[in-house]
Amino acid sequence: MKIALVTGGSRGIGKAIAVRLGSDAYHVIVNYRTNESEARDTLERIRSAGGSGELLSFDVSNAQEVSRALDQWHDANPDKKISILVNNAGLARDNLMVFMSDQEWKDVMATNLDSFFFVTRHLLQNMLVGKWGRIVNIVSLSGQKGLPGQVNYSASKGAMIAATKSLAMEVGKKRVTVNAVAPGFIRTDMTKDLDEKQLSALVPLRRFGEPEEVAEVVSFLVSEGASYITGEIISVNGGMYS
Ligand code: NDP
Repeated sequence: MKIALVTGGSRGIGKAIAVRLGSDAYHVIVNYRTNESEARDTLERIRSAGGSGELLSFDVSNAQEVSRALDQWHDANPDKKISILVNNAGLARDNLMVFMSDQEWKDVMATNLDSFFFVTRHLLQNMLVGKWGRIVNIVSLSGQKGLPGQVNYSASKGAMIAATKSLAMEVGKKRVTVNAVAPGFIRTDMTKDLDEKQLSALVPLRRFGEPEEVAEVVSFLVSEGASYITGEIISVNGGMYS
């Protein structure tokens, strides 16, 4: 059974991805930072759908914590390898750039971008040795077209898009694919304070998306069926941008 790690699997899009991959018959490692009760809920949902999984708490923005947690997991599971990685954990700290604090810039870059580097680097070697792997980065419409108030967030996601393309070129010869999914407005805690009715008018499909609609694309990208797709950025944005 293939093993998938989903970062930020306790809530929102990560929860839907973890549950979906569980029902696709992967063993799912559900990462989270603080919200253990929601992470347990994800695991319950995986199990009640007939899947298997486990929890692994670590802060994706902290290089030492990432290494420690993943080394401990490998020590406890010497015969197993994580061959599917979904870099989903992320946060937004919106502000106009003229008012943006150093902390707002650093927190977003650390959680959204540094995390991609720390977690992916750690798991990549085994994927290369095993000559099979799937990496899916959850980026954003904001990193493709830019959004006011999100200079930090757009920069982090835009950089992740560029990194997706470069890494795909590095590791393709070892049958490791690297793709990104770029959601628009998806109904989660991250968007709960937005005016959904007003913003839906900007979406050609006239509504916010559901986390499960992002999970569907991730499910495809990690499957054997997607074995000739790499370096792609797939939008799930109701037609807002292409
Ligand atoms: P939520 O705020 O609903 O959930 C964020 C998740 O990330 C939680 O599980 C949280 O864990 C986890 N997380 C945050 N920081 C860390 C950290 N340092 N270490 C480990 N886990 C962490 O976000 P969404 O589900 O909305 O977003 C998921 C991804 O999708 C993000 O990368 C986001 O940028 C992207 N996205 C979202 C869009 C949307 O409209 N919702 C649109 C475009 C992109 P915990 O529960 O423990 O706090």
